[in-house]
Amino acid sequence: MGYQNKVLRVDLKEKKSSTEPLRMDFARKYIGSKGLAIRYMYEELKPGIDPLGEENKLFLTTGPLTGTPVPCSGKLSVAAKSPATGTMNDCSIGGHVGIKIKFAGYDMVIFEGMAEAPCYVVIEDDKVEFFDASDLWGLGSHEAEALLAEKYGREYSIMSIGPAGENLSNMACINSDYYRQAGRGGIGAVMGSKKMKAILIKGTGGVKVADIEKTTDRILEILHEDVLQEDNTYVYDEGTTAFLEACEDGGIVPFKNFSSANDPEWEKYNGSVLLQYREGKRGCGSCGLGCGNFLKIGNAVCEGPEYETIAAGGPNAGIKDPEHIVKFNEVCDNMGLDTISTGDTIAWAMEMTEKGIHDFGVRFGQSKEMLEMIEKIARKEGPGADLCHGVKYCSEKYGGTDFAMQVKGLEFPEYEPRGSWGMALSYAISDRGACHMRAYAPNEEVFAASIPPYTEKGKGKMVYELQVSNAVKFSLCLCDFWGTISGNYEGMAELMRLITNEDWTAEEMFDVGVRVINIGRAFNQREGFNRAHDTIPKRLVKEALGGEGPAAGQRIPQEAFDDMLDQYYEVMGWNRDGTIPEEIIQSLL
Ligand code: SF4
Repeated sequence: MGYQNKVLRVDLKEKKSSTEPLRMDFARKYIGSKGLAIRYMYEELKPGIDPLGEENKLFLTTGPLTGTPVPCSGKLSVAAKSPATGTMNDCSIGGHVGIKIKFAGYDMVIFEGMAEAPCYVVIEDDKVEFFDASDLWGLGSHEAEALLAEKYGREYSIMSIGPAGENLSNMACINSDYYRQAGRGGIGAVMGSKKMKAILIKGTGGVKVADIEKTTDRILEILHEDVLQEDNTYVYDEGTTAFLEACEDGGIVPFKNFSSANDPEWEKYNGSVLLQYREGKRGCGSCGLGCGNFLKIGNAVCEGPEYETIAAGGPNAGIKDPEHIVKFNEVCDNMGLDTISTGDTIAWAMEMTEKGIHDFGVRFGQSKEMLEMIEKIARKEGPGADLCHGVKYCSEKYGGTDFAMQVKGLEFPEYEPRGSWGMALSYAISDRGACHMRAYAPNEEVFAASIPPYTEKGKGKMVYELQVSNAVKFSLCLCDFWGTISGNYEGMAELMRLITNEDWTAEEMFDVGVRVINIGRAFNQREGFNRAHDTIPKRLVKEALGGEGPAAGQRIPQEAFDDMLDQYYEVMGWNRDGTIPEEIIQSLL
């Protein structure tokens, strides 16, 4: 129950598809979505393959809860080996596409090979068709989706790439239903390398559960008792615009490429300013919270902007204009670029220009030049031909590695680690490079203040516990904004019992989380990653944080960072060099 027990495999080169049973032995160990996708990647992607080559695959993976009324269960994992980092990469995308895949009768869709010419794929239940996309190639993602929606109707969910994905940028994302993104690690470039402009999916089936009445009654209780509660409802009222004030209070909003924190003029674009321009609300399927804000300022329109986009397009680039922030979001989405990596890369280029190291033609505070640079990056024009590869590539070519804010080739999300030392550890050990979705340290160190932020003490265990909880949540396909389910392993086990009619305990759920972290690490280890790659930029170690915020003056001494790594490896049972003992690897298979 819950699963469809079916995988759809699509061969883009041969233009054919086939189905096969889902590996239920994998599902029992890894549940679905994130965990299941990584287990399949470990099985099917040979070590050392070119992420943009024929052997990489694109995995769309649902979970047993997808397509049921379980709150916040409408997410989909989109995974592949990353061209930006060379690690595994799984992204969580909202909207309705995951539910459509499930209703079409599949737990997973795996795209293999490369088309010879631009194409798009239409999946309707058991019918899979391939179409020429040469008319769509080169169009923005929004324009391509609009043409396809007009042709096929809105019953289909659409996933698409923009010019950035076509041009194989390390920062290219995949869009869905216009405004939702699988954003990070160049996942859109993997789709672009396959010459697949879009995927359309429609499903007319459903999901079987053991006892529909009992399940529905209990889900409604959970919705009212645990989801629609004060701790979660800020999500509907404000969305992640609320994080700006919370992060300002904690002194962790980056300013001018993480050279300091907390823009003194942040109230010019804070949540209440942005929400004055709200024209509507949006939400994913099966969501009880509906976090999406739909904003229009002047001729700028976007769903969002999320906190990370506000900070990346605004203060981290030295820009304080709400209309610019919304436009930044809109242009990145349409060009098919991740707002975090694009904002950070341009901010780094601004600092390089201002320091006189290399003139990229863009400086802090320049809105017009920043917006033009997004298009240049997506189309690989002028300085965009280098910047499209991200800050790791560019800093190795032009200098400025000390302030290239990235780990393993993935740019920093917009949380300043000198104000939340656990975030430095979290970025360093994350399985896909610097990511805030693995272990969200500011929750404990800044918002809840349950542990002091400017110390290494206790951070290994804290990051481990946060990471395990998220690994389970994302393997269940649950949205991270259902905050009160985090760490509630019995609550997550109950959802599995309700939907699958199988015995699941809180302990087993916790074990799944640890296993998911280990299988991601094992994939990366096979690719040659170890402790030497679990690093942070020198800026965090050498430079005291500037600005006036509460974390001003902080830096993270190298010994403190090394100590956090030792703590984390110990609690994970890994070797001091960051490798996983063979007996743990064997237990994952
Ligand atoms: S809270 Fe937002 S991101 Fe999460 S499922 Fe709901 S609408 Fe989607």
